[in-house]
Amino acid sequence: MMDKEKIVLQKAPKGTNDILPLQIDDWYYVEKVIKKVLQTYGYREIRTPAFENTELFVRGIGETTDIVNKEMFTFQDKKGRSLALRPEGTAPVVRAYLEHNLSRENMLVKLFYLGSMFRCEKPQSGRYRQFNQFGLEAIGSSDPLMDAEIIDASLHVYRELGLKNLSLVINSVGCRKCRPGYLQALKDYFKERRDRLCSDCRERYEKNPLRILDCKNPQCQMEIKNCPSIFDYLCEDCKEHFNKLKEYLDSIGIIYQVNPLLVRGLDYYTKTAFEISSGELGAQNAVGGGGRYDYLVEELGGNHTPAVGFAAGIERMIATMQKQGVGVPKWDGIQVFVAVTSSDDIMPAFKIISDLRKYDITAEMDFLNKSLKAQMRSANKMNVSYVVIVGQEELKEGKVMIKNMKNGEQEKVSLTKIYSYFK
Ligand code: AMP
Repeated sequence: MMDKEKIVLQKAPKGTNDILPLQIDDWYYVEKVIKKVLQTYGYREIRTPAFENTELFVRGIGETTDIVNKEMFTFQDKKGRSLALRPEGTAPVVRAYLEHNLSRENMLVKLFYLGSMFRCEKPQSGRYRQFNQFGLEAIGSSDPLMDAEIIDASLHVYRELGLKNLSLVINSVGCRKCRPGYLQALKDYFKERRDRLCSDCRERYEKNPLRILDCKNPQCQMEIKNCPSIFDYLCEDCKEHFNKLKEYLDSIGIIYQVNPLLVRGLDYYTKTAFEISSGELGAQNAVGGGGRYDYLVEELGGNHTPAVGFAAGIERMIATMQKQGVGVPKWDGIQVFVAVTSSDDIMPAFKIISDLRKYDITAEMDFLNKSLKAQMRSANKMNVSYVVIVGQEELKEGKVMIKNMKNGEQEKVSLTKIYSYFK
């Protein structure tokens, strides 16, 4: 016998969430809207594994990023290969794009994904260790029109979901040509101020000073405020790309702010970077972000292929919807309860309920050997519209009794007519 006192009730691991039946309608709705909207833009869904070779993320996201440095869940398989739970979706999508040669038929490949991501972060409201994202990637075009479409599609999803008061911030983080000049300018600027930066930023100063701009530490923020602007360092190509993007956004009435300090937590971004946030969420207010990643495909072994993408946190989208009181279609619930007057009727009742479900009628019966009275109470609690009462007397006539729970009326209905009765 197991010693009961020694059994500790298990809890979900830190930073993970159960999505309970009461919450699932929100998820179904959000997932349905995402798929519907993104397909109208021609994006097709791709599903990649929940884990990849660790190397993919080290090469793709960048060694100096917090995600790779501190937040990856890595483990070894039995042969000692290092694997990592995916912390983001873009590197896996690009890996799959190359592995399956998806550009074979089309120069431009437009993909979207939905799924769980894993980051070993300090959990707090809106920040979890397992969370869900939807994302979209357009691989193959260098045109700022593509960036504009990605931004438009992302905002379209939010709008269709009924989210309000979102703000879009855009920036350019330059390219291989012009970013080194900016990095040097940042180094020169922060050189004298290094001692006033947090320990993380002092390390960032050495490895990748652009990351300093992303620091939330108030002391660092003070120092960041007056740092050089990227716009003084962009090359002609990046400048023109950014100006064109703004024109495209203007042409379809998308409102944005330009923030030269916006950088993103992944190293692969070039040119456009953008973030969408909700005023309703407090500290963790980013509901999504994205940008251009013109070198990622080649960093992962492909030919030079420009690309742009976006990813959004679904938990934060749902939290915003709840705060804004957005109504979500709910499950209709059980329509019909099939009750038995005695245990002799269970077999015919089981056949009836099985057939009802084949006709797409949502039906439930008793599995706890309840009396007819208790079954009627269950049916009431489920708020069903009808109860089919299966009893020997009616069965002899090839019939069942159907009770309309709204008006209390009962009528005998032939077994062969039950389905048409409900239809
Ligand atoms: P990122 O690419 O890191 O900017 O992530 C894109 C979006 O995913 C963010 O804007 C958030 O909405 C969401 N997200 C990122 N990390 C987390 C997390 N740890 N928990 C919940 N949502 C997250």
